[in-house]
Amino acid sequence: MQKLQYDVLLTQKEMIMADYYVNKNPQSNGDHEVHKSGCTHMPEEQNRILLGDFYTCFDAVKTAKTIYSTVDGCYYCCNECHNS
Ligand SMILES: [Zn+2]
Repeated sequence: MQKLQYDVLLTQKEMIMADYYVNKNPQSNGDHEVHKSGCTHMPEEQNRILLGDFYTCFDAVKTAKTIYSTVDGCYYCCNECHNS
């Protein structure tokens, strides 16, 4: 019972929307990294574009791809969207 309640809480927490940003400057491999608000690897304000509020990094990456053709999730804050 305790475990179940904890799982429900965790699911709700994951569904909270967050601001996502894309780095204007590409990585050495050409990828523009997507970051979630609060990431310690967030680019400087002048080097990032606000993508908007999303539930998942997948939606944020999809939106970033309308701006840049090569996009990747940050290893630290968007690990499930990080590919290279
Ligand atoms: Zn990040």
